[in-house]
Amino acid sequence: MKPESDNPPAADENKREPSSFGWRRKKHLRETLAQILEADPNQRQYLIDMILTLDTQDCGREPTLRGLRVLTATILAQLIPLLRGRVGTGRGELLEFFKYLDHFPLDPEHETRMALNLVYQEDPSDQQRKLFCRLQLFWLLTLMGDLDSARPLRKELEPLVSLQRPRLYATYLLSLARILQRRNRHLSFSSLWLNLICEMYRLDGPETALYMVLRWIRMLNWGRDTALRKDLLHKFGAKLRLRQDLLSATLLHELFMQENRDASPEEKMGYVKLLRRHPPYLLSPQQLQHLHFFAGNYLSAIKASFRQSIREFKHSNYYLHKSWAWLSNLSDFLKKNLNVSQYSRAMGFLQENVMDMGRQISLQNNAYVETLHENYDLIKCLLKQVEELSITDKLTGLKNRRYMASGAEHAFQLAMRQKVRVCLALLDIDFFKRINDEFGHLAGDYVLKRLSRLLLGFFRKSDIVIRWGGEEFLIILFDVNEEKMALKMEALSQKIRESAFTWEENQIRLTVSIGWTSVKPAHLRQDELEPYIKRVDDALFEAKDSGRDQVLRAKDEGNLI
Ligand code: GH3
Ligand code: MG
Ligand code: MG
Repeated sequence: MKPESDNPPAADENKREPSSFGWRRKKHLRETLAQILEADPNQRQYLIDMILTLDTQDCGREPTLRGLRVLTATILAQLIPLLRGRVGTGRGELLEFFKYLDHFPLDPEHETRMALNLVYQEDPSDQQRKLFCRLQLFWLLTLMGDLDSARPLRKELEPLVSLQRPRLYATYLLSLARILQRRNRHLSFSSLWLNLICEMYRLDGPETALYMVLRWIRMLNWGRDTALRKDLLHKFGAKLRLRQDLLSATLLHELFMQENRDASPEEKMGYVKLLRRHPPYLLSPQQLQHLHFFAGNYLSAIKASFRQSIREFKHSNYYLHKSWAWLSNLSDFLKKNLNVSQYSRAMGFLQENVMDMGRQISLQNNAYVETLHENYDLIKCLLKQVEELSITDKLTGLKNRRYMASGAEHAFQLAMRQKVRVCLALLDIDFFKRINDEFGHLAGDYVLKRLSRLLLGFFRKSDIVIRWGGEEFLIILFDVNEEKMALKMEALSQKIRESAFTWEENQIRLTVSIGWTSVKPAHLRQDELEPYIKRVDDALFEAKDSGRDQVLRAKDEGNLI
């Protein structure tokens, strides 16, 4: 089922729907684009103008916003495969610099020096440093939307940047694109992008051109036409996603940033996983923060994977801190490079950014706490389940009472089927409290462990020894006749009486009381262990009552024997 669009189309956006392109026109478009890529810069503009007015009879008129999206999508749908087919044929040297763009303003010393080395390949002069600083300022002001402050800078920079320094030139054009976009100069905007892409292709190859295509896609406001953007992003193909450079990082991030209706959480998580393999600097702190925040939510809400989600939230917090640091660095940078009134206006533009980050923090804290809370309950519940499912006693390693419901019953049924006699014995340590009182609880625990080992060694592997309660043990023996059972119980009682458990140089001795019974196969009843256990319990009670340190066989009673 197709998701319905959230909003009805805006009236003015529908006024001039662009005509859909037939295959003949698409072919023509593709051929023209191929020509444009190779064209001499002087001839290029003519071809670009032709493409941009392909679907409009009235040449030169600005298309509507919707028209712009469709036009861009049509052009890029042809251009992306064209460039993709040529991947690997260029130099791809400029990308190394473009990773800095989303980190502007660069940290004054370290980062600036590295970026400038890429631009000038030598130690930059003061003037070159200043130019780079002014360019960063231009970039940032257009990013914030402060066009009034950006205008004089544009005039200042225009004559200073040229294709001789393609990194600076591209930075300037990308900033300029934002101005054109805000002024609704759609045709100039598209023309600028096509020129930039062609220059990057010519100078540096298809990877860099494709990177610019991605920046174009990112900058364009897709409104409700996000499906167009989705198609374009998928045109880049799976192979490009697997690289580990700025191009693949940018592509994966765009794919990740798709609307929920265009990409499922699983799909997005797939992009996050691929992005994790990239060096973090290829993305900005805010981008990284989003990624980890998403992963944290995904892992807790969908995968219920507590530990992993906490780790993601921790990363997300780390990058949120970095984003704050970036914002404060930005404020310092603007203060240093603008006059007082410009600075205060710029800060006005930044306020929205600051608020947004504040919202992120409270959102994040909420999600963090909620996830913790949700998972706390979940974990408590899981632990309880695990505990309930456990059939082993933690202290002694023997089977516990819960084992009766599963394993012991199963063995019982087997005995019934094979017509084997079953004997039950209940053993309780005499005056165990005294051991605890005299030597301490740890000694008591130790005795329980040692006695358990003794019991396991005393009986056959096929017999079942269960810690029935604190210092009470239930033993189930199969295929033993009554005489043998009586002897065995006496022997056990004697063995325990003669054993000494050494605890901190104390020789702890003990005796036990035992009640037991033997059940003929013909009298075994399915699912009814309780009556037999009740009878051995009675016998045990009697053994205690008549002086302890005794073995007592349960009285016969009806057909239970
Ligand atoms: P009786 O001869 O009548 O059996 O006397 P008793 O002292 O053994 O009395 P009873 O069986 O009523 O008490 C058992 C005691 O065993 C009570 C409890 O403090 C202790 N106990 C139960 N489980 C543990 C345990 O895991 N570790 C230790 N150290 N003591 C335990
Ligand atoms: Mg006892
Ligand atoms: Mg007891």
